[in-house]
Amino acid sequence: MASRVNRPRAGEALGTRNEATRRHNLSSLLTLVHRADGLSRADLTRATGLNRSTIGALVGDLVDAGLVTEEHPETTGVGRPSPVVQPRRDVVALAVYPDVDAVSLALVALGHRIVARERIELPQSPSPAMVVELAADAVAGWVEEGSPRVVGAGVAVPGLVRAEDGLVVRAPHLEWNDEPLGEELAEALDVPVDVDNDANAGLIAESLYGAGQGVSHLIYLNGSTSGIGGAVGVTGSVLRGADGFAGELGHILADPDGLACHCGRQGCLETEVNLQRLEAAAGGPLDHSRLEESLGSSAAVEDELTRQARVLARGIANVTSAFNPRTVILGGFLGLILDRRGDLIRELVVRHTFAPLADSLTLTRAALVEDQVLIGAGELAFRSLLADPLGE
Ligand SMILES: [Zn+2]
Repeated sequence: MASRVNRPRAGEALGTRNEATRRHNLSSLLTLVHRADGLSRADLTRATGLNRSTIGALVGDLVDAGLVTEEHPETTGVGRPSPVVQPRRDVVALAVYPDVDAVSLALVALGHRIVARERIELPQSPSPAMVVELAADAVAGWVEEGSPRVVGAGVAVPGLVRAEDGLVVRAPHLEWNDEPLGEELAEALDVPVDVDNDANAGLIAESLYGAGQGVSHLIYLNGSTSGIGGAVGVTGSVLRGADGFAGELGHILADPDGLACHCGRQGCLETEVNLQRLEAAAGGPLDHSRLEESLGSSAAVEDELTRQARVLARGIANVTSAFNPRTVILGGFLGLILDRRGDLIRELVVRHTFAPLADSLTLTRAALVEDQVLIGAGELAFRSLLADPLGE
């Protein structure tokens, strides 16, 4: 990411080349400040290898563009402390996460912190038009309260998404088919919109800010009301597959004689490992915001946890043999199963995985708890600003 300003060579189109270098450096600087949620000029100098006066000029450009501020720490003792470059909290991305029972919305500020959020519970799963309307209303309300500069929107959808144009090809739990959600939302909000699969968004957030930091090969499995989402991270990118649908790990085959799945087949991982079957064992609906407490530890719950842990371990073993990840991150209720049956799952994963691939595998709970999908959706929306901060 870092690059040095090259010494000019005679005969080259210096203006163009210097301009391209400047834009590249602005992108590197803003990305560093966004990811660290603020860095000193001295840290930026170290991280980029650029000299102090170049950093000063580039930071000045970002301040003028309204993207960062500079804070001068108070002098204590000898020497002048380096000014700290802070991302501006009023530069925000809208994050949208439609699920079967609610639409979650948030403003994620530059610096990757959520600065406003709303979860709208719904009696039935939302239509795409309803999602667009709720998103537009929420933005209007937030703009009235403060004056955020919304640079884009990111939508995380539990389903198959064509990321190039934001077409939701198939979201079985929402009963959406070929919905041009990206286009419709972009028209309503008048900002660029990026749409992706919810597990891909979660993986992006966990790998930048959560349990996957610094891990080059990882798998993210998330258990929610609408089943199991999966994503495969390879050296900083999400594995996309030929059609962009890779990582549908909730639909790997767990039991050919299992229950019918929303995808039209039977015995998928998510029909055998799911929240509804845990709820049935617990004897009624669980409080999803206090899942661990509300699940309890009756004999039926304990048996069901063991059954689901065994199936989940086989699934993890299969994807581990296929992708050789260093870390498998479990989010949502899968994280709870890992907490309650960690020893059993680890033992079975080792037993079912082609041996060398399990030797250095780590299984861990997602670190960003409830927020990874929204932060990841915000990250999608910030991509173009971070790539070209001045948008010239
Ligand atoms: Zn399925």
